[in-house]
This record gives sequence, C-alpha cells and structure tokens, in this order.
Amino acid sequence: METRTIYAQKSIALIAHDNRKDDLIAWVSKNERTLSRHFLCGTGSTAKMVTEATGLPVKAYRSGPLGGDQKIGSLIADLAVDFLIFFWDPLTTQPHDPDVKALLRIAVLYNIPVAMNQSTADFLFSSTLMDQDYARALFDYRSRIKHKE
Ligand code: PGA
Repeated sequence: METRTIYAQKSIALIAHDNRKDDLIAWVSKNERTLSRHFLCGTGSTAKMVTEATGLPVKAYRSGPLGGDQKIGSLIADLAVDFLIFFWDPLTTQPHDPDVKALLRIAVLYNIPVAMNQSTADFLFSSTLMDQDYARALFDYRSRIKHKE
C-alpha cells in the first residue's frame, strides 16, 4: 500500500467558523508550545486572529467563505498540509457549507488527522505520534472510480 510520511514536524491547518474562533484561540493558547514546533497555516481571519492572540506565525490564505477552505483542501491533496484542526459551527448554516463538506471529504480521502472540537484536538495532541514520523496509508481509490487520472 502506498504511504506518505507525516513528519514529526507537521504542517497543520487551523480553521474556525466565527462562533468557534474564541474556542480555537483558547485551545491554541493552551497548546502554544507544541504548536510552535510545527508549520502552521489557516484561513484568512482565523490565521490573523491566532497570530494576533498568540504571536505564532500562521500563514494566512483567503478567508473561508472566499475560497480559503478550498485552498486548504487543495494543499491537502498536494500533500502540503497533513493535519487539520477545524472548529466548525454545528449550530449555524454557512454560505460556504459545500466548501466545508468538500474540505472534510478531502481530509478523509487523504487520511490526515482531523480535530473538529477541543476534546479531539486534546486527544490528538497528547498522542505519542505527535513527536514521530508516521506513515499514513494512501488508499487506492482510483480502482473504485471510473474516471481515472
Ligand atoms: P476565516 O474562515 O478564518 O477566514 O473566518 C473560516 C471559515 O469560515 O471557513
């Protein structure tokens, strides 16, 4: 089976919907030391707010509703992002809900760790795998679909 390495120094994308930004910033502040060992990026407003609140460098892409979620998805497909922390809002409809669904689909397809709430993020960050290289399996989905590359 084909694998790709998630290195000890990971490329982590941070995204939070507006009603979840405070929760994400609180979680990031709590985990600032660990996060400082990794490469960070995120959708526009989330990245900016995390940097302002913590000083951590977070590469900012477009805002989520303006294509940022799709950008993060394409980075996952290009194997440039290998870890996702995405606090989405379970109580509000978003104008870019299709993009959110697409991003989560791509994250599953490329078999990267995804945390969608604080407790999952806590469990992931307390894993011994955080400090190690990890061979993630890339499943051969092409054999299951008709239109091959
Ligand atoms: P934002 O986008 O970080 O630019 O607010 C997040 C989102 O709504 O997906």
